[in-house]
Amino acid sequence: MYIALYARQSIDKENSVSIETQLEYCRSTLPPDERSLTIRTFADKGYSGKDTNRPEFQKLMQEIRRGRVQKIVVYKFDRVSRSIIDFSDMLQTFKEHGVTFVSSQECFDTGSPYGEMICKILMVFAEFERASIINRIRDAYEKRSDMGLYPGGKKVYGYDLEEAVISGVKTKRFVPNPEEAAQIRCIYQIYANPTVTLRRLQDNLLEQGITPLSGKDWTTGKLSALMRNPIYVRADEAVYRYFERRNTQIVGELSAFDGTHNIQLYGRSKHDKSLEDWSDMKIVLLESEGIVDADTWLKCQQKLQRNKQAASSTSNRTSWLGGKLICEKCGHTMTTVKGASKRYFLCTGKTHKKTCTGIKETIYVEDMEALLSNCITQKLKGQTASASESHTETEVQLQALKRQLAEIEGQLSRLSEAVLSGNLNEELIAVLNSKAKSLSAEKRGLLDRMDELSVRSPAPLETIDLVRRWRRATFSEKRAICDILVKAVVIAENGDPEIIWNI
Ligand SMILES: [Zn+2]
Repeated sequence: MYIALYARQSIDKENSVSIETQLEYCRSTLPPDERSLTIRTFADKGYSGKDTNRPEFQKLMQEIRRGRVQKIVVYKFDRVSRSIIDFSDMLQTFKEHGVTFVSSQECFDTGSPYGEMICKILMVFAEFERASIINRIRDAYEKRSDMGLYPGGKKVYGYDLEEAVISGVKTKRFVPNPEEAAQIRCIYQIYANPTVTLRRLQDNLLEQGITPLSGKDWTTGKLSALMRNPIYVRADEAVYRYFERRNTQIVGELSAFDGTHNIQLYGRSKHDKSLEDWSDMKIVLLESEGIVDADTWLKCQQKLQRNKQAASSTSNRTSWLGGKLICEKCGHTMTTVKGASKRYFLCTGKTHKKTCTGIKETIYVEDMEALLSNCITQKLKGQTASASESHTETEVQLQALKRQLAEIEGQLSRLSEAVLSGNLNEELIAVLNSKAKSLSAEKRGLLDRMDELSVRSPAPLETIDLVRRWRRATFSEKRAICDILVKAVVIAENGDPEIIWNI
């Protein structure tokens, strides 16, 4: 039996931590009584973490299955894998063979209660991700849409379909139909005016003689559905953020949202789309062009959203906290009740059994969920208190360095813009070049310092970023994670909650 240290470095990254440094770091974090044990190192150089097809890693897994390894130490989570599914499978294998797994930078140890909890949570997220992958494979529509391909179905008003080859696949492309597109633009423009209602818009179109070129007359329902469609927007960063805030899954890089291309929205969501959480919806940036500018489109969304909220403020959704809240006074669980405007929790001792006078304060579901969500975020960050002090200090230093770096990068790009503009004489270009050189040297220095700092500081679990996953979790994921972490939330008579954690 021995201790295995595993390191991986991909070649494509300039400022990544070297194999030697990783192994050194792993060694330095071993407790004194383990340093005398046999230690073997495994290292994959020039391999990425996108899958587990790495020779040394495979060798290590074989050794584990043969029962020769008692503990694995890595520098950081992402050295092992960047995929949560691979990761969770590995943890399962480690568990079966009694191997403890330690990520030294993240202070993560499967032998500790915190590590054990994280493992359970990782498994939950992996399970949901696996399920969603299976769905995705089944769903050709979604797969084609992911690639920005026309998924088939009805023609969209405002666009014609043109034969095209995208990513080597024969498909169709949206091309704006001039007359229809002009109408669409007109509709958005009128409605973007704060005082214009859907009804007023409909009348206005009639007055102006703008009738659909195909199909029947406009109705407020049709107009509202039409304007909601992101197929018409020339998507920019603001639009990206709009969907990001709603937890929509986004296919495509932020940089590609350049205010030209339009968006396809899809997903199998059956629930009320007026809810702010669209985590089971997806958007993909298309190759075709939008018809309406982002600003106008977003203005209309805000108005439409307000209408919808007014119409269905009492959505019939339960809480992912369901069954966790307990009335301190009588010990009964609390159930959600639909109020005039919002859902709230009531003691079942009061409502069903009439034996309890209940909680004096109104416990709104959204408030309690928000509170718990924050507490769970803190729990997932879960660094040990002792490590956090030095951590924040280095964090501050790192932030400062990052700001400096951004500034230098800004200066460099301005310099190169100036040089490329071609309006400069040779002398000036020489001056700018030497300035650029010294800036580049400064940049390298900064990157080195940042590397150094991040090697020293214990980082939170960034790679398998649980906090981010939690923030974007769907209703059922939240329920499952909450189940692992929270035993109960006891509500005192004055409404004060006390969370009882499972660990
Ligand atoms: Zn009660």
